[in-house]
Amino acid sequence: MDFETLCVHGCKKQYDTVGAVAVPIFTSATYERFDFDPAADFEYSRLTNPTREHLEHTVAALEGGQFGLAFSSGLAATSVLMELFSPGDHIVSSDDLYGGTHRLFTQISQKNGVKFTFANSAESVIAAVTSETKAVFLETPSNPMMQVVDIAAVAQETKKRGLLLIVDNTFMTPYLQKPLDLGADIILHSATKYLSGHHDVLAGVLVLNDEKLNERLRIISKTIGSVLSPFDSYLVIRGIKTLPIRMERSQETTRVIAEWLITRSEIKNVHYIGFESHPSYEITRRQSSGFGAMLSFTMHDEETTKKLLMGVKVLKFAPSLGGVESLITYPMLQTHGDIPEEERLVRGVDSCLVRLSIGLESTKDLIDDLTQALEG
Ligand SMILES: *Cc1c(COP(=O)(O)O)cnc(C)c1O
Repeated sequence: MDFETLCVHGCKKQYDTVGAVAVPIFTSATYERFDFDPAADFEYSRLTNPTREHLEHTVAALEGGQFGLAFSSGLAATSVLMELFSPGDHIVSSDDLYGGTHRLFTQISQKNGVKFTFANSAESVIAAVTSETKAVFLETPSNPMMQVVDIAAVAQETKKRGLLLIVDNTFMTPYLQKPLDLGADIILHSATKYLSGHHDVLAGVLVLNDEKLNERLRIISKTIGSVLSPFDSYLVIRGIKTLPIRMERSQETTRVIAEWLITRSEIKNVHYIGFESHPSYEITRRQSSGFGAMLSFTMHDEETTKKLLMGVKVLKFAPSLGGVESLITYPMLQTHGDIPEEERLVRGVDSCLVRLSIGLESTKDLIDDLTQALEG
């Protein structure tokens, strides 16, 4: 089945008996038994739930994976992953990370004895591997500087050394990038973003192919209990139906806005991977089928940056990304507020950096809005 059809129909398993076309929301927390079979399909909703299972099968199929697990947020999914590791284990991670992931690693996992080295290219990630390394964690393209790591190059090394390769695929989605095909072992999604697509739900999903690892993650998930609710599962299922057309349209608008931004004298530098001059352009062309709908830019001065953020009317000055409403974000204050200043500045997350997530408004309205905010 083609990707678009799979998005609309999902991995249909007919759970209802009346022929519902939309997936039913099964709110039941517990399930009645009809026999003594130890392997009942449904028993208790912390373990499995039909609506959540539909979502898990669907995202797994879209990523080309066997197994999916859905959680109450992207960070809940990442915290479950961190339970695979023990004190003394070492993880190499990309250094330009979603702020919450960075906080989880440095404030919680590290306290629990897991060690981290942060690196920013395929070569430096591989060079940071030690005899204690158990996994490599990549977020690519990265947030907010749009750095891209060559997934296949890293996978070649992790496979050789028996390390787990985890890839956060939130920015690209399986519509544009398929990390399992490039050699990753586990894919992570903040389904809060493009998969659900409407800024109305928090959700996280893991996808993988290894059966033993899936069993382990299932045990951790049912033990911790941070699973996705049936209603929220439904919202993500509904969002996924329009994922391909949303990505196409947002991506198109993003290119036009990126090209417009470079013509503006207030703007020093536009970080958009679709520009041939961007250092990540070639790798992106190789490993993704598009450049996505995210970009960031650096302005000449803080005063104009603040004027822009306060002046927009169509774009919303808010954190998050990947929804139908376009958002303008101030990473220093919002997504990356908890990262120590020195580390932040080294990565270019300064008081003149602004991030855009382009949604589905008309290109003209967005450009008019940015213009009036810059000039107003
Ligand atoms: C938002 C985000 C997360 C965290 O997901 P939540 O659903 O907010 O918990 C992780 N990675 C990336 C790239 C994100 O954008």
